[in-house]
Amino acid sequence: MLKNILSGSDCASCKICCIFDKYDIWETPVLDDDLKALVSERFPEVKFVGKDGGWLFRMEEAPDGLYYCPVLDSNTGCMLGDEKPFDCRIWPYRIMELGGRQVISIASICPTMYKKPLEELCAELDKNGLADKIFAHAEKHPEIVKPYEDGYPILRVKSE
Ligand code: SF4
Repeated sequence: MLKNILSGSDCASCKICCIFDKYDIWETPVLDDDLKALVSERFPEVKFVGKDGGWLFRMEEAPDGLYYCPVLDSNTGCMLGDEKPFDCRIWPYRIMELGGRQVISIASICPTMYKKPLEELCAELDKNGLADKIFAHAEKHPEIVKPYEDGYPILRVKSE
């Protein structure tokens, strides 16, 4: 979804958004029922936990103290390809709620996007109606909306 601003090669060489620590484990993607069913069929060993009407991958802490997404292949990246969760397709944009309003913010942990000028990050949200698509998806799947986290720059506020 962000192919014109975030190259596949940048993502392939990074994968930071698919590996979590105890401080950002809340960032794990939310799956809907259909995607959970698809993942269960392809990867029967993957386990889930329910959250707010959606599903999170159950991740066990690895010996290095990190939590690796169970559908991350260390060589090839995400094994879900274009069927990855919506959260992952819009990463590092995040949809959050602040004071009853939905906002689109950006995660500073993405080394490629976070160094881009703010105006480029905002302009990307207008291209092809990306911000509208994010808000529309959140309308159908409110489980993907996370509480606002301090330090996440807000790029867009949903109009009332
Ligand atoms: S589903 Fe794919 S893109 Fe999303 S965190 Fe897991 S490996 Fe990464």
